[in-house]
Amino acid sequence: MNKERHLVVISGPSGCGKDTVVKYLRKVHPEIEVSVSATTRAPRSGEKEGVDYYYMSRAQFEDKVKNGEILEYAQYDKNFYGTPKSEVDRRIENGITVVLVIEVEGAGNIRRLYPDCNTIFVRPPSYEELESRLRGRGTETEESIRRRMARAVEEMEYAVDYNSVVVNDTVESCAEEIYELICKGLQK
Ligand code: 5GP
Repeated sequence: MNKERHLVVISGPSGCGKDTVVKYLRKVHPEIEVSVSATTRAPRSGEKEGVDYYYMSRAQFEDKVKNGEILEYAQYDKNFYGTPKSEVDRRIENGITVVLVIEVEGAGNIRRLYPDCNTIFVRPPSYEELESRLRGRGTETEESIRRRMARAVEEMEYAVDYNSVVVNDTVESCAEEIYELICKGLQK
């Protein structure tokens, strides 16, 4: 079996609920691990260092990129986000399934590095629902919501580049669908 199938990339517009779905997936299937990204964004209330992200300054992030410690990175809503190499290689070498929850540009770069990785795009049921989820989160400014909604329209066009597309109607059903796609991917 190709080891790259253990690498699962999940994307979807901000607010589509992908992080909640992946958290639930981990709870039900704890053998699946999730990569923790580096970011220059400030922590939201309740987020934890090393659990949600590795938070760092722009200079620290740039140093990591320069030292070759970052597999892929992208700018999103004025901040940088990147996947540390250490989160991925060791796991797929050892046959551990690892999920990257990243935006579309980074997903394209991962696909170039690992052409056989399993890519899944999560769609919200509608734009109205997406906006209401973003607002309901209560963590973004009006300006950030506007930028994230504009980016969502662009991101949705990338869905065709993914191996599979799932709709996040309910967290449980979406997580189960993703689990089945991961298992199917591992059989290839
Ligand atoms: P948020 O600020 O909402 O946590 O994340 C903003 C966007 O950045 C989301 O689409 C999220 O999936 C994406 N993201 C998180 N980590 C990474 C990463 O390591 N690389 C890339 N390319 N995108 C990431």
